[in-house]
Amino acid sequence: MARLIDSVVGHTAVIDQLIQMRTAGRWPHALLFAGPSGVGKRKVALAFAQILICEKEELACGVCGPCLRVAKEQSESLLFVKQDEKAARPTIKVEAVRDLLDSLSLASMGKNRVVIIDDAQTMNPQAANALLKTLEEPFENVFFILIGEDLNQFLPTIRSRVQVIRFAALSLAQIQQVKPGQPDWAYRSSRGQVDRLDLLASPEGTQKREEALGLFEQFCANQDFLLANDWRPQIKDRTWAQFNIICWLQIVRDLVILKTQANKFILNTDQLERLKKLYSIQSKKLLWLAQQLVRAERDLLGNGDPVLIFEDLWVKYARE
Ligand SMILES: [Zn+2]
Repeated sequence: MARLIDSVVGHTAVIDQLIQMRTAGRWPHALLFAGPSGVGKRKVALAFAQILICEKEELACGVCGPCLRVAKEQSESLLFVKQDEKAARPTIKVEAVRDLLDSLSLASMGKNRVVIIDDAQTMNPQAANALLKTLEEPFENVFFILIGEDLNQFLPTIRSRVQVIRFAALSLAQIQQVKPGQPDWAYRSSRGQVDRLDLLASPEGTQKREEALGLFEQFCANQDFLLANDWRPQIKDRTWAQFNIICWLQIVRDLVILKTQANKFILNTDQLERLKKLYSIQSKKLLWLAQQLVRAERDLLGNGDPVLIFEDLWVKYARE
């Protein structure tokens, strides 16, 4: 088995920076990997866990016992803090952090240990505070890697005690390398995120995307959109409401591009004929709609009611 670092696609600047920190002996006790989901942050975290835990080489050998155990995620030196899956919303609870601190208090015989906290933004305030104490008075040879999307989702007290490493989305070529054999429109619409690509290319995602375009046509054309009830059940589901907004943003973007005749930049290449039928919507209105959709996406993340958000959007659209 090779080193994990060799199988990471993209993120070369980030990796160079991290390698430099390692070789210069400046590896901090807490890092926060921030950036879009599905771009490989967890993979990079595991790769550097291997580097820190390997006992043979500074940048990991990939073949010693500790290296192999990290690769299998079965190393006693590699600890994870996991979400409570049973909670209504995925949450990292204080018990999970306390369990971690208990296991960290056991002696490690001077060996490095790495703690990976994925979806760290889901720590509830008690969990974040419990972690904070550890970040203030770190254990010897224990290195934390927190993984999250948006820095604003973290308490300022946490942010001030970690070194932030920013990750960008994958390029088109990179995501094709990570997940070959997917349809062109799915790559283009994935925003360089593998989780989004998986969703789009899944049978369910393909169908929902089709529905999203149908709903968009209805939204733009139907004077009785508010009276129609057929769209409410699918929008009620928050995940699909978010997915719908993503699809609509891409449709709006494509419609604006259509007007500039730069068709090679179209994302929904397979839906071109249907998009052309929406050509009459004015650019000004499309740009307005794009802004409103971005706002709606935020409202949804902030726990707004999906159906109300879409009703409100349509009322404003009809008036615009
Ligand atoms: Zn090794």
